Amino acid sequence: MSDLVNLSLRETMTALRAGETSSRELTQAYLERIERLEPSLHAFLTLTPEKALVQADEADLRIKEWRAEPDQTLPALAGVPMAVKDVLCVNDVRCTCGSRILESFIPPFDATVVERLRSAGVIFLGKTNTDEFAMGSSTENSAYGPTHNPWDFERVPGGSSGGSAAAVAARLAPLALGTDTGGSVRQPASFCGATGLKPTYGRVSRYGLVAYGSSLDVVGAFGRSAADIAPVFTSIAGPDPLDATTVDLPVPTIDLGTEGKPESGGGTLQGLRVGVPDEYFITGMQSEVEDRVREAIQLLESLGGQVKRISLPHTEHALPVYYLIAPAEASANLARYDGIRYGPRIAGDEMWDIFRNTRGEKFGPEVKRRIMLGTYALSAGYYDAYYGQAQKVRTLIKGDFETAFETVDVIAAPVAPTTAFRIGEHGDDPLSMYLEDIFTLPANLAGVPGITFPVGFDNQGLPVGMQLMSAHFCEEILFKVAHAYQQATSWHFKQPTFEPVF
Ligand code: GLN
Repeated sequence: MSDLVNLSLRETMTALRAGETSSRELTQAYLERIERLEPSLHAFLTLTPEKALVQADEADLRIKEWRAEPDQTLPALAGVPMAVKDVLCVNDVRCTCGSRILESFIPPFDATVVERLRSAGVIFLGKTNTDEFAMGSSTENSAYGPTHNPWDFERVPGGSSGGSAAAVAARLAPLALGTDTGGSVRQPASFCGATGLKPTYGRVSRYGLVAYGSSLDVVGAFGRSAADIAPVFTSIAGPDPLDATTVDLPVPTIDLGTEGKPESGGGTLQGLRVGVPDEYFITGMQSEVEDRVREAIQLLESLGGQVKRISLPHTEHALPVYYLIAPAEASANLARYDGIRYGPRIAGDEMWDIFRNTRGEKFGPEVKRRIMLGTYALSAGYYDAYYGQAQKVRTLIKGDFETAFETVDVIAAPVAPTTAFRIGEHGDDPLSMYLEDIFTLPANLAGVPGITFPVGFDNQGLPVGMQLMSAHFCEEILFKVAHAYQQATSWHFKQPTFEPVF
C-alpha cells in the first residue's frame, strides 16, 4: 500500500484503528521511501529502522488489544512514525547535533518530548540533519553535509531543522520534531512547503534538548498540515519538573472539527482580528513572497477575518539583539564540550591542551564564530554595552507584541524575505545569511508562538510560506486559523515533483 505515505494523520489513525493497515506496514512504507530517496536528500543523520520496526510491532499489539476491548484508551499517536531533529536526545540513539564534537555521543535517556511521544505511541524512524548545534538557516553548517531541498536539489531546505522539514515535505516521515531558537522550525517549513509550529517559550519542555540559546529555544513540530501537528503539540506540551522554565498552564484540547473539504464547516473566521505589520514588508524582499502572503491575507479576510495594518516599531532591532543574545547564551552552553565529558577527545599534554585541541578540531567555523562573539559580548567591560543593552531592547520588542495583541488576535507576516536560496549562495558572508532570519527572530525574542504554512509558489516553483503569530500561550488560535486556511486551499497537498506518482 504505497499510498499510505500520502494519507493525512487523521486518515492514517483511522486506517490503523480500523485494522486496514498496521503500524509495521506503515513504518515499512516510510522506510522504503527513505531507502530510495534519502541518498538524494540527506535529510537524516542516523536511521533506526530495526528499533522502529520493534516499536511498530508493539504498537500493533496495543492496537489489536484495543480493538478487542475498545473501552480502553489508545494513545493519541499509536503506531505513527516520526523523525526527530538530531539535537533532541532519544535513548540509546546517537545524538550528534550536526557536530563532530558529538559524533560518538549516545544519550542514555529520552528528552521529555521524546518520552511523551513514546508514551503517545510514536515510532521513531531516526534523527534528522541540522546546522551544527542548530546555528544556521540552511543546514549548510552541518558537519555532515547539507540537506537538499526536495523541490530543487540545488537549494537549501532552510535551517536549522532542515532535515526534519525536507523529510516531511518529501514524505519520508509524516511528522517530525524540530527546534526554533530564531526561526528554525518556521523558516525550513516555509522553504520546503511544510507546516511548522513554534510553540510559546515555556510551553514545551527543553529537558533533553541540547541547549543553544536557553532563553530562546523551543521544541516545535513539522507536519503536512495544522491538523496533523495538533496532536503532536498536545502530546508534548505542558509543565515538566525537569525544566523550570515550563509554565504550569493547562494544555488546550485542539478541536479542529472536520478536515479536508472547504464545505465541511469550521472554516469561518468571523470576528477574527488579523494584524499585518508594516515592518514585515520591506524593500529588497522577493516580490512574489510579498504577493503570495498578501493573497493569503486576503483569503483570511474572505473567510471573515478583519484585517488591519499594525506596527511593531522595534522590529529592525531584532537582528542585532538576537545575534548578541543567542551567541552569548551559546558560548556559555557550549563550554561543556571539552573533550572530557562528551564525545571524542584529542590528546594533549595537559588539561588546557585537551580542551583547546578538541574544541579547535571538532567545532565547525560557525560555532567557533558564535562562541567568540558571545564570549566577547559577555566579557567584563563589554557586558553592559552589548549583552545588557540587548536585553533592554529585547524588552521593547516584547512590548511591541503585547501592545499589538491588545487589538488583534493574530499577526500575519512573511516567514523569510526570499524562497529557498541556492546551496553556497551566502558563501562566506555570515551577515547575509543572518539577514534571512529577519522575520522569524522577533517571535523568539518575545517568546510568542508562531505557525507557518504554504501559501503558494514563486515563479521558479519554490514554496512560499506565511507565518501567523499570537499572544503567549494562544497556540489554539494559530491552529484554528491555519486549519481554516488549509480547508479553503490545497497548497499543503502539493508535493515536490521528483516524487513518483503513487
Ligand atoms: N538562523 C538562526 C541562527 O542561526 C536561528 C537558528 C535556530 O532557530 N536554531 O541562530
